[in-house]
Amino acid sequence: MKLTGENFIGNKRSSQGNERFQAVNPATKELLEPLFPEATQNEVNEAVERAADTFTEYSKKSGEEKAEFLETIGDEIMALGDNLIERCMKESGLPEGRLTGERGRTVSQLKLFADVVREGSWVDARIDTGEPDVRSMRKALGPVGVFGASNFPLAFSVAGGDTASALAAGCPIVVKAHPSHPGTCEWVAKAIQIAVEKTGMPEGVFSMVHGTSHEVGLAIVRHPKIKAVGFTGSYGGGKALFDEANKRAEPIPVYAEMGSTNPVFILPGALKERKEKIAEDLAGSVSLGVGQFCTNPGLVFHEDSNDAKSFQTELTNHVEEISAGVMLNEGIKKNYQSGLSKLSGIQGIEVLAKGKDDENGFRGSAAVLKAPASVYFENQDVEEEVFGPSTVLISSSGKEEILNAAKKLRGHLTATIHGTEKDLTEYSELIEVLEQKVGRIIFNGYPTGVRVCYAMIHGGPFPATTDSRTTSVGTKAIERFSRPVCYQDLPSTALPDELKDDNPLEIWRLVDGEFLKNSVR
Ligand code: NAP
Repeated sequence: MKLTGENFIGNKRSSQGNERFQAVNPATKELLEPLFPEATQNEVNEAVERAADTFTEYSKKSGEEKAEFLETIGDEIMALGDNLIERCMKESGLPEGRLTGERGRTVSQLKLFADVVREGSWVDARIDTGEPDVRSMRKALGPVGVFGASNFPLAFSVAGGDTASALAAGCPIVVKAHPSHPGTCEWVAKAIQIAVEKTGMPEGVFSMVHGTSHEVGLAIVRHPKIKAVGFTGSYGGGKALFDEANKRAEPIPVYAEMGSTNPVFILPGALKERKEKIAEDLAGSVSLGVGQFCTNPGLVFHEDSNDAKSFQTELTNHVEEISAGVMLNEGIKKNYQSGLSKLSGIQGIEVLAKGKDDENGFRGSAAVLKAPASVYFENQDVEEEVFGPSTVLISSSGKEEILNAAKKLRGHLTATIHGTEKDLTEYSELIEVLEQKVGRIIFNGYPTGVRVCYAMIHGGPFPATTDSRTTSVGTKAIERFSRPVCYQDLPSTALPDELKDDNPLEIWRLVDGEFLKNSVR
């Protein structure tokens, strides 16, 4: 099998337009074959129409059938073997080990959603017997538009978290392929298409269109038959799509997971006890994957003290040893540089340490900046995400200033606290403040690395996301692509299996206020 450079409209390949683009190897700036077609409005319309035509049939598939489909997608991704990893390395500049790890995560994410739908209780079945008899459960929402990010070319892309959760919920999808890794997208699309055929799914359940122009993505969001959007990427992209969806005659939910600065609070006891270790691990977390993680720790608060000075010296020593790394694409490299220049241009901010430089390809060097808390209080830009291996240290006069700094934060995906038990008692208010600001609070660890599991929340208040009530990682993500439907006094025979009296699927149901697997009546 070779890459052909086409849009996937259901089971058909298509390249109707005249515009073409190529991927670029960010390590060498070399253009990569083949050419990919910019999708036309007509192709986007066709993809959405097919998804809509498929919806009724696909949404009625049983948990077992959807589970087999998701598992087969995973198997077919593995069957792509080295083709996928080699292409992905060329397009993203990410190393082999990272990408085989990310592929494993992508496949296990698909399998986790397979487990969820096979077990079946995710539908949140509720039954109130009596008069009237009221029953409700979650049902699939309709065709979903999916946008992946460049920094996870597998786990947040064509077969990433949004795809897995939308397909699990029973929604057909139309994916906008990321122009930074179109070949990787095509390989994964082939795997999904084979899985569609092998498991006998209706062919319109999956389509994928290419595009470097925002128009392609906007056309998906504007299409009246799209009922929700899952997006992972920049603040600019997510907000533009969210605004577009709200301008529609029928507004729809856009679950945009966007940028975040992920504040870290190093409390005095922890700084005294473990400053060397924290400095070493923080340098590792800031530079992991050349800082290209939405959970990269970009803002660090600590009290001003002799321990803090030693911590800064240690951190400097580590950061100066870090080699420049290949960034994902030219735009990300440029944004990183301009973000750093903007930050270091703010009066009162100093550059504390810089990593090694390398001008080959699109490489970025690590950087640590520092400022007194007054600069953070006066300048909103200090809190903005600079996507890359940098962080800003903010030194505060004491507890009150640290708590005020936390209170001033906007929404982020994560916040991290390094502390001792005594620190936690003294700073007990900090946790309460952070609960209002982020989706995940981490203790004595690092925000980079997001476990895919049942309890994970990868989300947070705006501007980290456009909807803080849910998550894009973990099994709760399925809720985004479903909505509750209530049935009053319907005879058991006419109800969905999940709500029938005898509970044929043996799922957990909230019956008259109690979680049970029993039959009712
Ligand atoms: P991006 O530039 O926003 O691109 C994401 C997708 O959205 C691409 O397909 C892009 O297509 C499209 N897009 C962007 N702006 C658009 C607009 N105005 N109108 C229509 N479509 C638009 O994001 P990225 O650079 O790939 O990813 C890096 C960013 O993602 C970072 O900020 C990072 O923090 C964030 N991220 C967040 C999470 C999370 O879970 N919260 C995870 C990973 C990454 P075009 O290229 O054609 O514009």
